[in-house]
Amino acid sequence: MSPGRQPGSLTTRLLASQIGVSVAMALTMVVVAAVAGPPLFKAHMQEAGHTSPELLEHSQVAFDTAGMLALGIGLAIAATGAIIVSVLITGRLRRSLTDLGEAATHISEGDYRLRVASADSRELATLADSFNTMADKLAGVEQSRRRLLTDLAHEIRTPLASMEICVESLEDGVIEPGPEAWQILSSQIDRISRLADDLGQVSAAEEGRLNLDLRPTDPNVLAETAVLVARDEFERKQVELQLHPYLDGALSAEADPARIGQVLGNLLANALRHTPLGGRVDVTVIADGDKVGLQVSDNGDGIAAEHLSQIFERFYRVDSARDRDHGGTGVGLAISRAIARAHGGELSAISEGLGSGSTFTLRLSRAAGTSEKLHPTP
Ligand code: ADP
Repeated sequence: MSPGRQPGSLTTRLLASQIGVSVAMALTMVVVAAVAGPPLFKAHMQEAGHTSPELLEHSQVAFDTAGMLALGIGLAIAATGAIIVSVLITGRLRRSLTDLGEAATHISEGDYRLRVASADSRELATLADSFNTMADKLAGVEQSRRRLLTDLAHEIRTPLASMEICVESLEDGVIEPGPEAWQILSSQIDRISRLADDLGQVSAAEEGRLNLDLRPTDPNVLAETAVLVARDEFERKQVELQLHPYLDGALSAEADPARIGQVLGNLLANALRHTPLGGRVDVTVIADGDKVGLQVSDNGDGIAAEHLSQIFERFYRVDSARDRDHGGTGVGLAISRAIARAHGGELSAISEGLGSGSTFTLRLSRAAGTSEKLHPTP
């Protein structure tokens, strides 16, 4: 379409095309009837023994008149039918397209509630379904963007409020400038900078900016290293830490060892935080179909079913006050899952419920050409 030229109406176009087809059909019939009709009619009359010229001429006129009348009526009916069909079809099309257009306008203005009704033709119904799915997704993205901003404001406000109180107390002479005040201020600054780091990492992982150094890696070594790093902390808190390597053949995962070390470190820190003194945490390496699994399970607090799907969201804490006091930013699992997904893997959690412990499973792709032995571990 050339710029500035308005496209024609759908009804007019459909009507014009239907009338065009009817006229072409009628013209063809007129031409065929005019060329082939009279000689055929005459031949049939003569075969039947009618040779009188007046009778033949009279019959010919009657034949021509009847033929033209039939064609004229037929053409009028076809044109009327074309108009009715065009108006009905375009009426329906127009209703569906207008609904879609209105809904799209609402969405572009930031109102994500409007949905379009399913149309009665398959193609329009598919279009309406796809549109509604897109609107649902956009509404979800918008909702999580708003929640993220609210949570972020809340997370920043808490340490800022502590710093404000501390500075005011210093000004009023309620507390002396000294180690105690510096300790309060520096711990809150630490908290804000940890939050900024964590958020930066989730965004980087989710946007694929992590620059992973992927290479075939022995998952037993990954698990062993993570256990070695965490061992001291576990001993201090008197929580048993057990490693169960995969011993049923060679296993290799496509992984960035440093990033996976970070995920396992986070899972182990969480497990330790949520397992009481005398409890136990197990790190198990499993072969799981075309994936390699690294499991961290504990027999501690457990997670209630209603929280299980949410713990991977940014800032989600099951017990906000207590978990915040432990120093977590509520972003650890979001980072871990984003890293797992950046690897083409997944991080999931199961728990029988409160008091029954939890199991976190990190699944990674097997390194190419290493699918020799598959013994799924239960
Ligand atoms: P944080 O950094 O604050 O620990 P995470 O994203 O790592 O946040 O964890 C989110 C929430 O999931 C935590 O607040 C905690 O309630 C819950 N959680 C994580 N790991 C475990 C676990 N092993 N057992 C029980 N709850 C857990």
